[in-house]
Amino acid sequence: MANELLIKNGRVIDPANGIDKKCDVLVVNGLISDVGKIEKKTQTVIDASGKLVTPGLIDIHVHFREPGDEEEETIASGSAAAVAAGFTSVVCMPNTNPPIENETDVEYIHRKGRQARKTHVYTMGAITKQREGVELAEMGFMAEAGAVGFTDDGRGVQDPAVMLRALKYASMFDVVVAQHCQDDGFAADGVMNAGFHSTVLGLPGIDALAEEAMLWRDIQLIKKANVRYHAQHISTAGSVELIRAAKKNSLPISCEVTPHHLLFTEECCAEYDTNYKVNPPLRTAKDVEALKEAIKEGLVDALVTDHAPHLQSEKELEFLAAPFGIASLECGLGLYVKALIEPGILDWPGLIKLMTEKPARIIGVAKGTLGKGRQADVTIIDPNAEYKIDVDKFCSRSRNCPYHGWTVRGKVEKTIVGGEIRFSAGG
Ligand SMILES: [Zn+2]
Ligand SMILES: [Zn+2]
Repeated sequence: MANELLIKNGRVIDPANGIDKKCDVLVVNGLISDVGKIEKKTQTVIDASGKLVTPGLIDIHVHFREPGDEEEETIASGSAAAVAAGFTSVVCMPNTNPPIENETDVEYIHRKGRQARKTHVYTMGAITKQREGVELAEMGFMAEAGAVGFTDDGRGVQDPAVMLRALKYASMFDVVVAQHCQDDGFAADGVMNAGFHSTVLGLPGIDALAEEAMLWRDIQLIKKANVRYHAQHISTAGSVELIRAAKKNSLPISCEVTPHHLLFTEECCAEYDTNYKVNPPLRTAKDVEALKEAIKEGLVDALVTDHAPHLQSEKELEFLAAPFGIASLECGLGLYVKALIEPGILDWPGLIKLMTEKPARIIGVAKGTLGKGRQADVTIIDPNAEYKIDVDKFCSRSRNCPYHGWTVRGKVEKTIVGGEIRFSAGG
């Protein structure tokens, strides 16, 4: 007998198919069977009145710390956090310990993801061996094993010749090359944005130029290699200008932003609270405005979290020594509602597009839509329900989250992955 699930009366938002209307979604044997007015007796019926029914959310930038730092996060704990936050697909970054740099490593991440049975777990592979920026990693084998992109995230590839070789090599597999744009020459041992505030606080700074110089360089390189390029977590007004110009020239470039670069500025570092120590660093109010303007203009392709869990004991170190990062996967949607919907920068369909259809396209997977015959990854959201972010209720193993105690809107009610309900609020 067919396994059927009917989601009734929700506001169905499916940007890839231009749908935004009150209707029903029928799932049969794990696949989307129909979207419209559906009268049918099924085993399971979900009443979605007053709720949004969207393609499952996709976060193409998370750190699950496995292998190597399982006390901070595992693929199992990260996957549980993902579905609790409405994410039906995530992309792990390869800067684990050891890094993901060959076929076996990619298969390991996939296997752990399947075993967790929560969200779809994808991974990017490292661009260079040990992420040292010298010798290319086994990109071909990793692409064959299903890596959805390459990056040395946490670090940019410094040598332009190595980067050009990587871009040309990746073009043979049609896999995106992503970059943590940061020229170490301008970043040195910086721990926050370089400028007036870093001087006052006596902390070494990371100049906006560190990001912009590498992004500018990479834009020159992609003109010489026919490959899709993705700028990770852009954070400065100058980067926005570079992306705008590159897109105007029809270069195959995409970019992403994080919630923290929209919600905080460098001034948050004033109390030396290490929960605000991130890489790239929190920038100025002018940069935040430029990022928001870029989103409004349609220059930004994906909203990610850059979920970066860390041990409390490490984040309690002094600002200079503490690791970079915020654990934010579990409140990602609510943060974007606060940063983008509440001030009127995006409406719901606009937001959902940047969390489903467009990120799916960047990593080249047939997801992010409710199209007929697609795997039934669906998120049901109560757009008006408010909730308090409470790190003690996180499924994530880490608590390094400056949003603790914030009240946000946009609560995930149900997360359906491959037709199975993998998360239900309050149950
Ligand atoms: Zn990064
Ligand atoms: Zn990252």
